[in-house]
Amino acid sequence: MSYQHRFQDGSSVDLPLGKIVCVGRNYADHAAELNNPIPTEPMLFIKPATSVVDMDHPFIVPQGLGSVHFETEMSILIGSALTQASELEAEKAIAGVGLGLDLTLRDLQGKLKEKGHPWEKAKAFDGSCPLSCFVKPDQIPDLQDVDIKLTVNGEVRQHGNSSHMLNRVLPLISYISQFFTLQPGDVVLTGTPAGVGPVQAGDKLQVELGKHISLTTQAE
Ligand code: ZN
Repeated sequence: MSYQHRFQDGSSVDLPLGKIVCVGRNYADHAAELNNPIPTEPMLFIKPATSVVDMDHPFIVPQGLGSVHFETEMSILIGSALTQASELEAEKAIAGVGLGLDLTLRDLQGKLKEKGHPWEKAKAFDGSCPLSCFVKPDQIPDLQDVDIKLTVNGEVRQHGNSSHMLNRVLPLISYISQFFTLQPGDVVLTGTPAGVGPVQAGDKLQVELGKHISLTTQAE
């Protein structure tokens, strides 16, 4: 299914779909739940454009590859190119704020980590990044005080707040741009709060970004 960035108010976004830059272990409570140490600097990885699907449609849970975990994250849509950007430049480049699921093949990731291999197969597979619509940044008074919530089959599984990020949004974007140029249409996923767990075909997921976004999707 083709994906196109869009805003919640129905207005379209004339930005191509690019890469998704993610940060691992950006909430201390999530690092702790997986028995991972807190990194001393942002731990980055990338999902390609081919990983993205629209959260408004059901998403596919890969079969036969071990457990698939949900990670609910605040997403940032980049509107203009950023190379070695300052925090001020990063702020000006934010075109939208939304939600993403950083779907993870957790068993496979564990095996790859054990061997010291890259995580790509566990994180960047086709369909591994369902994205919601975006709201315009001026709708959100404080990026570092936004609730992020996931309810699975009626049960709250993740409920965090962006105030608990170890790397806040603007320094994170600035840091990313020291290594990877962010292009218009790229998306940054800002890490998951605690509560990650397996998702199975048939599960009904409701994701919420404060009072700004609430939508329901289904795992297939
Ligand atoms: Zn994640």
